[in-house]
Amino acid sequence: MKTHKQIKDWGLGLTTPLIIAGPCSAESPEQIEKICLDMKEANVVPQLFRAGIWKPRTRPGSFEGIGEDGLKWMEIVRHHLNIPITVEVGNAAHAELALKHGVDVIWVGARTTVNPFAVQEIAEALRGSDVPVMVKNPMNPDLDLWIGALERMHAVGLDKLAAIHRGFSDAYDKRFRNKPNWSMPIHLKRVWTGMEVINDPSHIVGRRDGILEVSQRAINFGLDGLMIETHHDPDNAWSDAKQQVTPKALREILNAIDFKEPLENMKPDERLQDLRRAVDHLDDQLLDILQERFAVIDQIGEHKREHHLTVFQSNRWKEVMESRTQKGMAKNLSEKFMKELLYSIHEESVKRQEKQLRESDPVKKA
Ligand code: PEP
Ligand code: MN
Repeated sequence: MKTHKQIKDWGLGLTTPLIIAGPCSAESPEQIEKICLDMKEANVVPQLFRAGIWKPRTRPGSFEGIGEDGLKWMEIVRHHLNIPITVEVGNAAHAELALKHGVDVIWVGARTTVNPFAVQEIAEALRGSDVPVMVKNPMNPDLDLWIGALERMHAVGLDKLAAIHRGFSDAYDKRFRNKPNWSMPIHLKRVWTGMEVINDPSHIVGRRDGILEVSQRAINFGLDGLMIETHHDPDNAWSDAKQQVTPKALREILNAIDFKEPLENMKPDERLQDLRRAVDHLDDQLLDILQERFAVIDQIGEHKREHHLTVFQSNRWKEVMESRTQKGMAKNLSEKFMKELLYSIHEESVKRQEKQLRESDPVKKA
């Protein structure tokens, strides 16, 4: 996979778990200053200060951001807290202004990640700058769009990259403002080795309560930091009022989180090594059994070919699915897991047998 620089190598003195905090939107110099002072007073200075300067609003008529003036106020943050700053850019003009004002880290918002044209324009505007870029997941749960936006940045030579997991919109499930779909950030980490993912519980939950729970889950899953919207007077914030927390509440949330030690950072102890060896051994057995199972599947395929039988037989499939799912559930394996496992094994079996038929068919072969 592509090589990129992790957060600790961005040259900004950042470490993981990376804590990013600041308001949804920059509103006034007084607001920015008050947030900084309250952070200091609550003894909760984040590593990176966030502020929305241009706000991509779903519908017109709400506050759409203060614009370039807000970038000038970032000096207030440097003065009081002496920490780097990150803002969202949604087009090439924003990207150019952010660079002009010395923004330390740029992020691409969820509504922009869905649009490869906009992402490409931003990448072109940032070419040659070496600025770190964080890409939020797209609104819809499409891993390729998320990866694609990171790849577009990488392709213009920007190699200081990270991802932000802010959840996915869902027409039906209203428990969250944006449903977390935890398998997405985890899959991103699987397919792009070393890609760090910062969780944004504020936009996932959409309310103040629940931010701690989602943050803890993110840390449990092994995500690499948190971006939490923080405002001195959340109820009167100009955007996302319901989900912002005060600096004091931020400190309480961060104190309550049990930050796990990333396994990569420590030498696994004896017990963990023993357990991992046991898993390695069981996985070997699992693979032997699968190999044996597919050998039998191939013999069945041969038999079907000789007797001119179709590969897929729905009654048999139904019976296999139901009986194995029941057996699995009796062994404390979830129904969802059993179904996914059986679908996957069955799909592979059907493909192998269909290939056998195709390869022996003189018409197709020719
Ligand atoms: C934000 O961070 O304020 C924001 C607009 O987020 P998203 O792109 O995740 O909606
Ligand atoms: Mn917001």
